[in-house]
Formats: sequence, C-alpha cells, structure tokens
Amino acid sequence: MSSATPRADAPPPAGTDFIRQIVIGDLQSGRHTSVCTRFPPEPNGYLHIGHAKSICLNFGIAREFGGVCHLRFDDTNPAKEDIEYVESIQEDVRWLGFDWADKLFYASDYFDRLHAFAVELIQKGKAYVCHLSAEEIRAYRGTLTEPGKNSPYRDRPVRENLELFERMRRGELDDGACVLRAKIDMTSGNLNLRDPVIYRIKKAEHHRTGRKWCIYPTYDFAHGQCDAIEGITHSICTLEFEDHRPLYDWFLDNLDVPCHPQQIEFARLNLTYTVLSKRKLLQLVRDGLVDGWDDPRMPTLAGHRRRGYTPEAIRTFCDRIGVAKANSTVDIAMLEHSIREDLNKRAPRAMAVLKPLRLVIDNYPEGMVEDLEAVNNPEDPSAGTRQVPFSKVLYIEQDDFRETPPPKYFRLSPGKEVRLRYAYFITCRSVAKDPQTGEVSEVHCTYDPATRGGDAPDGRKVKSTLHWVSAAHAVDAEVRLYDRLFAAEYPEREDNFLDALNPNSLDILRGCKLEPGLATTRPGDRVQFERQGYFCLDAKLSKPGTLVFNRIVGLKDSWAKIEKRGA
Ligand code: ATP
Ligand code: MG
Repeated sequence: MSSATPRADAPPPAGTDFIRQIVIGDLQSGRHTSVCTRFPPEPNGYLHIGHAKSICLNFGIAREFGGVCHLRFDDTNPAKEDIEYVESIQEDVRWLGFDWADKLFYASDYFDRLHAFAVELIQKGKAYVCHLSAEEIRAYRGTLTEPGKNSPYRDRPVRENLELFERMRRGELDDGACVLRAKIDMTSGNLNLRDPVIYRIKKAEHHRTGRKWCIYPTYDFAHGQCDAIEGITHSICTLEFEDHRPLYDWFLDNLDVPCHPQQIEFARLNLTYTVLSKRKLLQLVRDGLVDGWDDPRMPTLAGHRRRGYTPEAIRTFCDRIGVAKANSTVDIAMLEHSIREDLNKRAPRAMAVLKPLRLVIDNYPEGMVEDLEAVNNPEDPSAGTRQVPFSKVLYIEQDDFRETPPPKYFRLSPGKEVRLRYAYFITCRSVAKDPQTGEVSEVHCTYDPATRGGDAPDGRKVKSTLHWVSAAHAVDAEVRLYDRLFAAEYPEREDNFLDALNPNSLDILRGCKLEPGLATTRPGDRVQFERQGYFCLDAKLSKPGTLVFNRIVGLKDSWAKIEKRGA
C-alpha cells in the first residue's frame, strides 16, 4: 500500500468510496496533512462481522494514507461492560490483521477531562442540572411535529449548577435524582438538540476506574470530545448517528477543544439469515442457545475463527461489499463465496467419509496394501502429492450407493462401474444386508487391476468418481455440519428473532472415517474433504486422539451462480 499524500491535481482513483474521496480531498486541500481514524467498540460483547467492516474501513484508510488508527474502548457505561470483552476485542482486531501500535485508548482515560468539559459548559451557561424524571424529560422533549418545552430547571444560575454538579460527582445524590443537560434548543427540528442529557448518576463499579466516579458521560457527550482529544481527523460511524452529527458539532464548537474532527456516516453491514445486534447475540449466549460467543454458527469474529474462516477471506469480503451511504442487506452467500475462494487456493485436499458404508473388493488380495499417489491441491502444484493406502476393505459414502438407483443416478449400484479416486475402476456385484433391519450393510465389488491410477487402457469411461478410505487405516473423527443459525432471511424483522432460529443448524456426525494422514491435523488447520467442503479442526473440542472437525463451508457456490445469472 502506498503511504503517499495524493498529488494535488490527481482525481480520486475510480471506484474509490465516498469516504476515501473525502480523505483524499482533505489531504489535497491541505485541510489535513495526515490522517487519524479510530475504531471505537463498546466492550459489551464480542465483535461481529459488521464490526469487521468498520475495522477494515478505519484501519484500512489509516494504512492506505500513511496515517494511524486508534483502538478506543468506548467504556462509558459501567453496567454492561466487562474485561472479557476488552480482551476478546483486541484479539479479534489483531486476528483480522490490524495493528493499533501504541494507540490503545479508553474513553475512561478521559473521565477527568470530560468532567472538566462539562464544568466548562456550565460556566458558559450552556449546561444545567435538571431534576425532571426520565419520563418527564421524554414528555417535555416533544415530538418530530411538536416543539419541546423548557425544563423548569433550565435557567438556574451558573453557581447553583456548579454546586449541584459537584454534589452529583461526590455521590451525594442518588441514581436518577438529576442529570446534567446541555442547554441548546427545545424547539429544534432535531430532537437530539433538545437539551440532551450529558451526565447521569450511576453508582456502579467501573472495570477500569473502579469507584472513582459515580457520574458517567453519555455516548454523545463522550464521543466527539474523545475524538478531539486524540486528534482524530475523520470520525467514521454508522448511519444511525447521522442525526447526532449536529450535536457532535455543537459540543466541539462550544468547548475549548484541540481540534474539530469531521464525523462521516456510512451504511452498516446487514447480512441475510444473520442477526448483528450485540444485544440479541448476548441473548443467544445467555440463554444457552449457542455454545458461547465463539460458537461456529455465530456471526462473531471469534465464531468465524473457530469455524475456520480466514482473516483474508473476511477482509476480501469487506472490500467487496464496499462502503455506501444507503442501508442495504448483503447476501450471506457472498461471504461464503469469499471463504470458498480463499480456501480453494490454499487448503490441502483429503478424503473423508462422513457417513460410512463398507465396501469389499472380492478379487483384491487379502492382506495387500498399496500406497497410491494423491494430489494435495490441484490449484497449487507446489503443494505436491501424498500416499494414501488402499486395501481390500474400504469405506465409501452411504449416499454414493443405491441398491435401486433413481433415474440419472450415476454413482454405484448393482452392475454399475465407477472410479475410486486415485485408485481403480470397480463394479458392484452384490450386497450384504443386516438381517434385522434389511438395510445394506456391505457392498461387494470387483476391481479391474488394469485401471490403477484411475484410467482404463481400453479407453472405457465411467460416469462418476467416488472418494473412499481404507477401513484398516482410517482414523475416526467427529464432524460437525453447520447450517445457517436462522431459517428466516431477515430474522431481525420477526416479532421475536428467536422464532426464526433454524432447528437444524448443527448436525453432529460421529464415527466418520478419514484418510490416515489427517491424524496429525492441528487445531485450526483447514482442509478440503473432497466432494464435501472445507473443514477446520476445532481448537476447543479436539483433544489428542479425538478429532472434531467443523465444516467451514460446503463446495456448492450459490453466489457464483447468482453472479453468472446477473451477467
Ligand atoms: P450493536 O448495534 O450490535 O450493539 P454497536 O454499534 O453498538 O453494535 P459498537 O461496539 O458501538 O457496537 O461498535 C463499534 C463500531 O463498529 C462503531 O463505530 C459502529 O458504528 C461499528 N459497527 C457496529 N455494527 C456495525 C455493522 N453492522 N456494520 C458496520 N459497522 C458497524
Ligand atoms: Mg455503539
């Protein structure tokens, strides 16, 4: 990435999003000589894929323009915040591939200065202590069509406000007894400017400042001032804050701050079949509906990591969706496409039979084992080849055999010949059945020794190729197949999003049979099981001798199809 300042006469490169265009314009005009952004999570939950969009944008812009991006915890609400979240957020930002160097900050670092800003506003006659209850404040605020009414406490003298605010700070007043409000305009067309609350009493322990404070600034009062203290040039946030911008600017215009950052809003990421509200994700965790924040079905970065997603795929996805000024919902198939595309290039291939059916090759010598050569990754010749043992008794997928094949079923059935991948042509001769259930328990075949490696010297063709594993050499594993956590395309539109949960989002298969080389898979390793999808060894559930694989994504690419249809 270049870190050069754009040339004064150069137009923004084609395809540059509107935020980067603003940044380029500011550098060209000399309004700024360097760029400083920030990512400001509230430590009240784990980061999700929507946050990844914001991280890629903020850290990405800093990187591209040779600037810096701060990681700032927006920890102004002691009731909901937790050190576990602070730690997970740092881990996730790093995992995604970004670095804040020594620019790690907390809004709580600035509590003294924020308090001084509040005092400054009071001294300027621009803030007052108000004893109206929360309901009264709401009622006085008016509506979009009706102006608000002034609080009876609005015009109390500065000295009295200073005294009362000091008593609030000292803990002499109870939670909810009063609040500090900015004195702006109760008739403003923007409800955010109708004397917003800027400090409230909350006698709660804060995870960093302990019991030092019992008054806490509101988000609106803290955010812009923190930006100004840190010298942020571009304060990028999601669209729901557009109506807060006049307030953001009002505070900065009315306080003696070191600079006035520019707030810019963009559309948040919404994904089909996905919930991206921390409150709702927390509910899933608390109610035990998922296996924690890092459940592989969760849209959290911790969940994606455990499932086997790569940071590269998530970054590519964030590049692809772009940055716009209008809200929309992205098809989750696009995210799945990004991970598939990434792993196609680098995941080694292996054979794994998830629902095993025994197959005996009647004319294969008893006790003989051949090592057959298999390609590790057809997309990457440098990945080389490996040896896979072949013997008389194998496992194939139950789905790859039908005693009575339906029309167009080209896999194995009585009398039919198919290819075993990297091995031989085989023909099904008979089946053995479980006397109790009547189900096929074993398929008997013969093989053609002349087809070793997978081709017939006489040029005869077969219509399908099956994967297999030698029974005597197979390693056992548990394989977890995931489907979408929600069955509804727009779960957030349901009256109760929990009603939209997909009851079949997790399918646990035990006794799966893998080729022996997979015994040494390490937690986090990713592999393509041929014909099945991409899988990752679960770092939490796997133990020495017990392999648990997560399916990252299947092979069928619905997004590629959608794109083709579009073209
Ligand atoms: P939620 O609505 O899930 O509680 P939040 O916006 O309150 O999320 P924060 O921790 O405040 O969560 O978010 C940190 C940053 O990430 C903010 O700047 C916010 O705008 C951004 N962000 C949050 N969700 C999304 C999303 N879906 N798409 C893009 N950016 C997001
Ligand atoms: Mg927020």
